[in-house]
Formats: sequence, structure tokens, C-alpha cells
Amino acid sequence: MTIVIAGAGIGGLTTALSLHAAGISDVTVYERVSELRPLGVGINLLPHAVRELTELGLGDLVATLGVAPSTLAYFNRHGQQIWTEPRGLEAGYRWPQVSVYRGRLQGMLLDAVRERLGADAVRTGHSLTAVEHGDHRDIACFDTADGPVRVEADVIVGADGIHSALRRQRHPDEGPPKWNGLTLWRGTARVPSYLDGRTMIMAGDGQQKFVAYPLSPPDPDGTARVNFIAERRDDGAQQTADWNRAVDPGPIVEMFTGWRFDWLDVPAVIAAAEQILEYPMVDRDPIDSWTHGRTTLLGDAAHPMYPNGSNGASQAILDARTLAWHLATTPDIARALAGYEADRRPATTALVLSNRRQGPEQVMVLAHERAPDGFADIGDVFGPGELADIAASYKRAAGFHPDALNSRASLTPPGRP
Ligand SMILES: Cc1cc2nc3c(=O)[nH]c(=O)nc-3n(C[C@H](O)[C@H](O)[C@H](O)COP(=O)(O)OP(=O)(O)OC[C@H]3O[C@@H](n4cnc5c(N)ncnc54)[C@H](O)[C@@H]3O)c2cc1C
Repeated sequence: MTIVIAGAGIGGLTTALSLHAAGISDVTVYERVSELRPLGVGINLLPHAVRELTELGLGDLVATLGVAPSTLAYFNRHGQQIWTEPRGLEAGYRWPQVSVYRGRLQGMLLDAVRERLGADAVRTGHSLTAVEHGDHRDIACFDTADGPVRVEADVIVGADGIHSALRRQRHPDEGPPKWNGLTLWRGTARVPSYLDGRTMIMAGDGQQKFVAYPLSPPDPDGTARVNFIAERRDDGAQQTADWNRAVDPGPIVEMFTGWRFDWLDVPAVIAAAEQILEYPMVDRDPIDSWTHGRTTLLGDAAHPMYPNGSNGASQAILDARTLAWHLATTPDIARALAGYEADRRPATTALVLSNRRQGPEQVMVLAHERAPDGFADIGDVFGPGELADIAASYKRAAGFHPDALNSRASLTPPGRP
């Protein structure tokens, strides 16, 4: 079975590794850029994604890439704690959560693909333009510096991100991603380590928010590399969804004046950033099919979502493992692709919609609505069990409630190591 994957992001590369692990090794990844550089700042790999990477034999490497958060804590804009919960192993999962640099994770996956599938398994400088559907095989059409290239395949996977060319071919009227009026400013900074040195914090509400998590353990001098996302409703901001748009930190520091908590100095963190990247909070409406002929979508191409809940990369990894499982265990390709879509499309559709309602971060919105000036006791703001229910129901929807994840069957096909 010949498989062509368009896009060497986290989704495309994990798909190649998953197919290879499932016994399908005629797999080539075609990437638009001519050189894959370590772009992006931090992302979180939740325990459901770390499980899949561990079952691909990459767990030890992933652990070396970043920090395993012990705790997730939500605060209001006055720095008062709304909710805190243990994460990863501390929460009883069999696998940790790991906060990593996106670029380092992508680089590790790229090395693993080249090592396991061969140096030629990732071809850069190939931009997918269209897919032609044949009776028995589909044809992927690429633009390259040397002219057009056509590649026949039994299955073509569009893992080409939020601006997917393959998705545009199937849905030509969809237009650009949808913006919800919030703008994100992402950066990393070396700052004094805060709280226990392994806590992911979110402070604020639906109008303005600050998220931070460490990407390195504290150094002997007490500082650590911290990833942050500053977010505000900002109708005048640039709406183009370009991951690499750098902006001046000054105005963003200004926006957060007054967010100096005794456990974290937010303006100081923003001011210490080497670079700030601006990105609008965008997603796309869920679509009613991913598969056409022998071609399907995966990752952000299939279900771009808001980052609430930190699930974008993790869901792409789940897609990859699920697709490989179906292709390896179902002899008929059409049925295998239908099985993949049936497993993944409803689940990710629910998540896209839940993230529009702020996902688990809705506790910050509710706290602001009910107690905009703060509270003496959080028990006066939320009913008994309400906060725990919100946290648990998001984990169930996203496939990482510890009870379900720890006990569900592996996505490694039977008989494979
Ligand atoms: C440069 C970059 C930086 C990012 N930074 C962050 C970040 O800091 N924080 C965060 O949470 N998320 C970030 N993301 C998004 C995050 O990686 C994804 O949400 C998530 O990992 C799902 O991955 P994906 O593989 O589906 O898509 P992506 O990671 O977007 O990967 C898609 C890949 O497809 C390639 N591609 C696009 N069009 C074509 C085409 N026509 N033909 C062939 N290849 C194509 C792209 O170059 C890219 O390598 C970034 C994405 C990119 C591309």
C-alpha cells in the first residue's frame, strides 16, 4: 500500500511513524517548505498524546524535550485562585503531560521518520496543489522548484494544517479561518521560576487572559524558560493566521499593567520575551466529511480548533494513530478510511464546539461573570462539585479522562511490537 502524506507538521510526521509501526512502510511525507526549521513556541502534549508517542517508542525522548507539569491552576484577573488540579502522573495517569517547544518536537519526529522509514521518506519543497481521483488510485499534484510533480497513491492524507490545500479543494467556498475577536501574543522568556516550578497557570477571563507554563526546569539561579500566551479581545488587531508574525512587546506589556501577583509578575514576563508572535484566535466550522475517494484529512486540516484545553497537537497525534490502526486492520481501504473518520470526526467536532465555549477555561469566564471584583471564598461563587464537573466533562469529551485513558485498548494493531 502506497501512502502519500501532505504536510510534515506534528500530525503528518506522527502519521508516517504510526503507519510504519503498523506494518505499512511505503509512506512518503511531502512538505511545502524547502527546509524544516524549529518554528513555534510551546505546546502541551496531554497524556493521551504521550501515550501514543510512548507506544511508538518515543516516550523517553519526549520526556527529555520539556517539562511535565504537576498542576494546572486557574486564577481570576486579581490573581485569586479559582481551581487547581493535578496533571499527568500526579493525576493518576499512566503517562505524563509534557510541555515542549513545538519546533523541538517536530525535529524529534522528523529524525525518527528519517531513521525508521529512510532518509528520502520526507521530501521538502513539495507544495500540494490538488488531488485527482482515479478508479483505483488517487494522484497527488505538487508544485516544486523544478516544476509540477504527480504522485500516485493508494491513500493520500492531507495533514497540511489550518490553510489546507486539500480541504480547500473539497470545500472551495469555505474562505479563511474564523476569528472570534481575540488575539494571542505568544512568546518565551527566561524569568524567575514561579510556584512549584512545574505549574501551568491561566489567569483572567473571557476578555483578557494570561497563560504560562515552564519549558525548562529551574536553573541553579532560580530562573526557568517559561512559555506564555497573552490574550485580549482586540478588534483592531491583524487577523491573518500566520504563525510567524512578530510584533513589538511594548503595547502588550502595557495591557497587563496591574497584573502583578505575589506569585507571578505578568508584565515582567512579557517584557522579558525575546520575541512575541501575534496570532488571531481562529478555527473553522466542522465539516461533514473528511474523506473523498482515497483521500482524507488529518490534524488541523481536518479540525482546526481554538487552543483552549491545549489539545491541537494531541488530537492530531490521536488522528494519526487511529488512521494507521484502521488501515492496518481493515483490508478494504474505503472501509478503513470510513472507520477512521467515524472514530475521529464526531469526537473532534465536539471538541471544536466545546472550545468555542471556552472548554475547561469556562471556569474563568463564570468566575468573572459571578464575581467581577473578586471573592473572599471561591465556595461563594461556585456550587458544590461544579468546578470538578466542568474539568471532568472536558476530559471525557477530549478522550483523556484518566479512567478511560488508562484502561482503553492500545491503538497498536494486534501482533505488532
Ligand atoms: C510554523 C508553525 C508554528 C506553529 N506554532 C505553534 C505554537 O507556537 N503553538 C501552538 O499551539 N501551535 C502552533 N502551531 C500549530 C500546531 O503545530 C498545530 O495546531 C498542531 O500541532 C496540529 O498539527 P498539524 O500537523 O495538523 O498542522 P501544522 O503543525 O500546521 O503542520 C502542517 C504542515 O503542513 C505544511 N503544509 C502546509 N500547506 C502545505 C501544502 N500545500 N503542501 C505540503 N505541505 C503543506 C506546513 O508547512 C506544515 O509543516 C504551529 C504551526 C506551524 C505550521
